[in-house]
Parts: sequence; structure tokens; C-alpha cells
Amino acid sequence: MGQYTPMIQQYLKVKAEYPDAFLFFRLGDFYEMFFEDAINASQELEITLTSRDGGSEERIPMCGVPYHSAPGYIDILVGKGYKVAICEQTEDPKQAKGVIKREVVQLITPGTMMEGKGLTDKENNFIASLTVFEDNCFGLAYADLSTGENRVTIIEDRFETVVNEIITIGAREVVVHSDFSEDFKLKLSERSTLTFSIEEDTSLKQEYAPLLTSLQDKRHHAAVNRLLNYLNRTQKRSLDHLQKVSAYMLHQFMKMDYYSKRNLELTETIRSKGKKGSLLWLLDETKTAMGGRMLKQWIDRPLLSMDGILLRQTHVDAFLANYFEREDLRDHLKEVYDLERLAGRVAFGNVNARDLIQLKYSLQQVPVLKSIMESIGKGSLEELTATLDPCEELQDLLERSLIENPPISVKEGGIIQDGFNEDLDRYRDASRNGKKWLAQLEQEERSRTGIKSLKIGYNRIFGYFIEVTKSNLQHLEEGRYERKQTLANAERFITPELKETEALILEAEEKSVDLEYELFKQVRETVKEYIPRLQSLAKVISELDVLQCFATVSEKRHYVKPVFNHKRKMIIRDGRHPVVEKVMNAQEYVPNDCEMDSEREQLLITGPNMSGKSTYMRQIALTAILAQIGCYVPASEAVLPIFDQIFTRIGAADDLISGQSTFMVEMLEAKNAITHATEQSLILFDEIGRGTSTYDGMALAQAIIEYIHQYIGAKTLFSTHYHELTVLEKELPKLRNVHVSAIEQNGKVVFLHKIKQGPADKSYGIHVAQLAELPPKLIQRANEILLTLENMDQPKAELNVRPVPEIREAGPLEQLSLFDEPKKTKKELTSKERKIVEELKSIELLEMNPLQAMNVLYELQKKLKG
Ligand code: ADP
Repeated sequence: MGQYTPMIQQYLKVKAEYPDAFLFFRLGDFYEMFFEDAINASQELEITLTSRDGGSEERIPMCGVPYHSAPGYIDILVGKGYKVAICEQTEDPKQAKGVIKREVVQLITPGTMMEGKGLTDKENNFIASLTVFEDNCFGLAYADLSTGENRVTIIEDRFETVVNEIITIGAREVVVHSDFSEDFKLKLSERSTLTFSIEEDTSLKQEYAPLLTSLQDKRHHAAVNRLLNYLNRTQKRSLDHLQKVSAYMLHQFMKMDYYSKRNLELTETIRSKGKKGSLLWLLDETKTAMGGRMLKQWIDRPLLSMDGILLRQTHVDAFLANYFEREDLRDHLKEVYDLERLAGRVAFGNVNARDLIQLKYSLQQVPVLKSIMESIGKGSLEELTATLDPCEELQDLLERSLIENPPISVKEGGIIQDGFNEDLDRYRDASRNGKKWLAQLEQEERSRTGIKSLKIGYNRIFGYFIEVTKSNLQHLEEGRYERKQTLANAERFITPELKETEALILEAEEKSVDLEYELFKQVRETVKEYIPRLQSLAKVISELDVLQCFATVSEKRHYVKPVFNHKRKMIIRDGRHPVVEKVMNAQEYVPNDCEMDSEREQLLITGPNMSGKSTYMRQIALTAILAQIGCYVPASEAVLPIFDQIFTRIGAADDLISGQSTFMVEMLEAKNAITHATEQSLILFDEIGRGTSTYDGMALAQAIIEYIHQYIGAKTLFSTHYHELTVLEKELPKLRNVHVSAIEQNGKVVFLHKIKQGPADKSYGIHVAQLAELPPKLIQRANEILLTLENMDQPKAELNVRPVPEIREAGPLEQLSLFDEPKKTKKELTSKERKIVEELKSIELLEMNPLQAMNVLYELQKKLKG
């Protein structure tokens, strides 16, 4: 250390406390980084790496960013998952003896961002903490520092469930104990980009005790304290906006694992990982950012309690029955600012006057919202309406104190209204009068000298001055004017009178600017006292927003109110896939029915590729989810059970890149469904078993169907291209065959997308091949092979439903070799063949449907044969 200059020594000392963060070290107008940080940051931020003398023999690598553009750079680093420690100068450089004091004032991490591009209006930014207790028991606490939301749950289950929950809430940072299992970390990182942080302290800090009053369980306390202590240590400022921690249990909500949520594209699509094209996108008719965030939370957690669902339904009914009031409400909701995030910034001390003006506008909307709601005023909506708190005194304060269009800066004046504070008025008077005096003085000087162009001006260095052009200098009285500055064609002077007036004006202006800042801070402090009330208001407004959104979507898209029953009955008439219907144009979408009850538990769906099997299955799941979040559903009639869990196995393109073979993922998901599903669950299996060789896959598919039929009894939709499985209907009393129809029209296959009873026409595959104009000889041969295979099928007809072995106890699956190694040929490829190989390689298989693939293959083969 000794070799370095005192400043570099100071740097190294601070850096040692923040080894895993980029240290933004304030040096005048710049944040500088040194050593490794500088090398890495220059790469990540694409800024120039330089070096400086730091006392040692070698120069020290250095790079820096101007302080005013730092937020953009911090956004980039934190967006990439890094942490940034902001180290400020904490004493006035003029007063400093030796090296200026510096301290880290905040650690910005992915989970603690309060502003910037990293935050999306309609998305939460949660930071989570994980605490491991004995016996597979985990405490998960999480908070959104930008909105103050604060929750905790205990998960007594496999770690996979914890991963699932962390992905559901979309946490970007997880705070753990230093000896947290590396294996767990790996499991978390496999599924999501997460930053890990360490906090050992789980003791309660008295200042946070009020947040934990409703928590009885010690484990809740440990989990929450770890998080709060981390936030306290890293943020180093008021966290007064954190709301009381609410505890919940996973079994209060419909359970869906990560795969299922992803497969059903609830909040993001599989391909683009964006919101567009998801159920959330379809539903999002919310008008406020807070409502948007609540909508996402509701979609992630469909309810299990019939009362809870029916309550939401009554609210939606009320909004549906009152179109004009609803539209009016939507118009006014638009004017409501993000009160939760505003409360967060108030507590953090980084709101400006413009934010508070927005708050004023928002509060002014509340009485309007209230009167609209009162005119709807039906049943339980009244209760919600009654809790709309207009915070009148606060509104009054904001109306009296702040001017309408304040500047962004809160330190340069121009934000407080006249008449709000007497002292301020007096200073302002002086400075306004001062300006009058100056105008007078200018007139006097002009008549005294006879110089018409003489003027009084101001600059920062010399203050007020009298400016006279060079050609007029001879008119000035000797000795009266003191020269201050010479310009190209003018001279600037001062006089004792001018100096006196100047002193008066400047003092008044300075005092008034300082006082304005003080007054602004007082207003801000008052707003701070209202934070809990503003947060409660935000909750009610969000809820009204989501409920009006359900009504708006339901009306626009002709949805129907679902009716629930406890008899495990499901009747959906004219059901549609909500997103596909929206995207494709409602007239073209072919609605389908679905009827299942305790006698019809399983549907085996057959039909050609692209006929609509998986769309049908997804639409049933989405209908159940929409129903259980309290929304209407895309159908003309819907009678539904309440599902406790939904499991899906629907082939997705990105399985291919997740590192596990598609087939393994398929089997893991099947195992998950089979081990956890109950009679109240919904299982969707799309083409299970297709990832392995035919007989292998078919045998597995059949065994899975039998198992669910016999041991679980969950409602199951099973699509398959193994036509042989359709004979199972004879053996399994609760299984029914349905198929999606297609016809041939003018030599083309036309998919009718209509679900019909009974199995599909089995020769369809070959038929499609024929339509694709594969050589007639080939088609003929395929038909011959089919016949042989069908004859071999006899044992299937005698299929016997026997209990299958307990899967729970089964040993690891033995991986069979799927294909024989292709024989290597030594023959060199011709250039034509090479070209075809290249073409084959460049085919985007995932972008094609089977028919297109077939066409491409056919073209290639034609080329090969010449
Ligand atoms: P499969 O699972 O049988 O291969 P998909 O369910 O993927 O078929 O459907 C293929 C395409 O058919 C979908 O992308 C959609 O555009 C269209 N489709 C599916 N169901 C319908 C329907 N009921 N009405 C209109 N088009 C549909």
C-alpha cells in the first residue's frame, strides 16, 4: 500500500469493502475507476482505458465517466447483472486538509434499482432473500424497493418449487447466507440470470419491527430480516416506504410450474421472451402502471377460493353493466401517476417538484374516481370505493405550495408559489423591485450621459454592469465610472449606486432560492408522512384498474362469465384460444367445445399436424386460468371446476438449447405431473413420447395414459400422432377419442380446426405426403408398409389395462440408444451433393411446419436424383 499516493490508498481501502462491485470513485466532475475495475468497465461500457500515476512504478489503469452522464452507464452495468458502489466526496474540497473524505453512499444492484431504464412501468423489480431451514424448508422473502411491496413465504417442498417461485416473481437478485449451497445457486442460475449477494445478519433491527408485526412464524422473521438488513446496509438511506410484510402460502393459489407457465405463454412468449403475444398482453387494458403490475401478479397467481373468485366476478359484472361509467373511469385513471414508485422516491429523497405536481394531479382525480364509482355503486364495489382516500390536506398543501410548471432542479428556485410563505414573498419583492430600480437607474444614466444605447447587464463574474459602446465613451463623466471589462466594441463599468442595488438584489435572490429549497424539503417531508396512505390508495386504484380491465376485455372480445361447480364438471361451448383469436381475426377462428366430467376424464386428441391440437389444449388451460383470476372467458358458455394445479408438456423450440435432450425434458415434466397431480388438476400432454423411437414412445405414452386414468383421475388432454393409442378408448372407461378434422379441397389440405368425436382418419400422414406431391412410387410403398404395420398391430386390440408399477419408486430411466450410428462412407461427395448438404444445414427447421419441411425435403431429393 505504502507505494501508492494517499488518494489511491483511500481508493483501495474503500474498494476492499466492495470487492464484487464496480467502485465509482468521485473525483471532481468525474467518477473514476482504477485497476481491474477500470479494465473491465472500459470493456463493458466501451469507454477509453487510460492510466495515471498513482505513486507506484507502474501506471495505474483508469477510466471514468462524467458525473452527469453516470446514470446511463450505471444502467448498463446493472442491466448486465453487475453491482455499482457510488463513492462520493463527503466534504467540501476547499475545507479538506489532505485527501478529501470519501464514502460509499449507495450500492446499486439489479434488485435495488430505483430509477432508470432497468425499471419497466408495468413490471415489479423484486429482490429476494433465501434462508434455508432444516428438512427441505426454505424461507423466501422479497421486496420491490421501487414500490415498497414486501412479502414472505415458507416453502416446504423441493428446491425446484423455490426456483419456480423466484422465476415467477421475476427476481433479479437473491440475497443468501455465505455458505448457501453451490448446487442450489446453479439450479437458480440455470433458469434465470440472477445476481447473488451475501447477508449473514438475520437479527431484527428495531426500526424495522413495525413491518413485521403480522408475522408469527420465526422463520418468516429470519427470511425478512436477512433481506431488510441487506437493504439497510447497501442503500444507506431511508427505507420508510417499505410496506408491512405480508405472508402467504403457495397452496392458497393455483400451482403451475415454470415449464407450464412458459408453455402457456402467460406473461411472456416462448420465442421472443417479450410480453407481446402473451396472455398478459391480451388482457392488459389497464390504464395505470400500478394496475399493470397488479394484473401480472394476478395472472401469476390464479385463485383457489371460490369466494375470492366470485367476489372479483361481481366487481367485473358491475363494470360490465355500466359502460359509460367504466369508460369515464378509464379516462380518469389515465391521469393517475405511479403512486407506489412516487412514494418510494419520496422516501429515498429523490423526487423533484414535477413529481409532486404529478402527485397533485393524481390526488385531484380521486374525488372524481370516487363519484364515478359511487354512481356504479353496487354491492361490494362500494366497499372498495369507500377506501379511496383523497388525502385532502396533502392535496391542499400541494395546490398551495408548488407552481404549475416547476423546473427539474429543486435547488435553483422557481418552484414555490407566491403567497405560500411570507419571508419568501418579501425576498421576491426585493428582487422584483430591484429589477425596477435597475430599469430606473438605466434611464437615469442614459439621460445623464445622453447615450441612448447605454444598458445595464449582468454576468456571473462581474455581476451587474453598465455597458457603453466604444464610440460613446467620450460622453462619460470622469471619475464616476469604474472600468471592469473591455469587449471588442464596448466597455463595461460599475458605479457605487449600481453596486449597492446589486447587493440588495443578489442577497434577496440568494436567500429566496435557499428558502425555496427549504420549503420544498418541508413539503417533501409532509408527503413522506402520507406514504402509507398513498400506498393504500395505490392498492385500491390498482385493483379498480385491473377489474375494469377484465370488464373491458371481456366485453370487447365477447367473453362469458364462467360458472363453477364442485362436481369436476367442465363444459366449454364455443371455446377459443384468447391470444390466437386476437392475433388472427376473430371471424376466422373456429370455436370448439369441450365436455368433460367424472365419466369423461381423459381426451385423446388425434389429427394431422397443424390441425390445431395444441391450440385446443392451450385454450382449455387458458380458459381455466382466466376463470380463476376472476375474468370472463372466451366461450359462449363455460361451466368449470376449480383446478388446483395445471401441468403441461407442450413441445417448445427452446428445449433444444436448454442443455437437456427434448426427450429428457419431456420425461421430467411427465414425472412432475404424475407425482403431483390430483383429481382436481388439469394435465395437458402434447405428443408425449415423440422424442424417442416409435414403439418405445408409444409404449410410454400408453403407460402414462393408463397410469393417470387409474391412479390420478386428473382431467387430462392428450394429443398424439400414435394412432394406435385410439383403441385405448375400448379399455379405459373414462377416456374418449376426439380428433381435429381436415379435408381435401382442390388438391390442398384444408384444416377445419374443428374438434370432433372419435379418432382421426389414420392414413392422413400419407395423404398429406401425396398432396405434397411426393413421387407416386414412394406413396405406394408407404401404403404397403402401413398395411404391414397395421397387421402387426393386432396385439394392441387385445390391450389389457393392468396396474403399472409405481413411478414414484422407479429407479432412474435407462436411456436407450435412439438410432444406430450411420455408416460412414469413404466416397467423396460430388459438388452437387455438397451443395445439397449445405442447403440441408441452412434449413431453419424450427420455423417450418411439417408440410413445408416435407416440401423442402422433396425439392432436395429431386435435385439429388437430378
Ligand atoms: P397442431 O398442434 O395440431 O400441430 P397447432 O395447434 O399448432 O396444431 O395449430 C396450428 C395452427 O393452426 C395455429 O398456429 C393456428 O394459426 C391455427 N389454428 C389452430 N386452431 C385453430 C382454430 N380453432 N381456428 C383457427 N385456426 C386455428
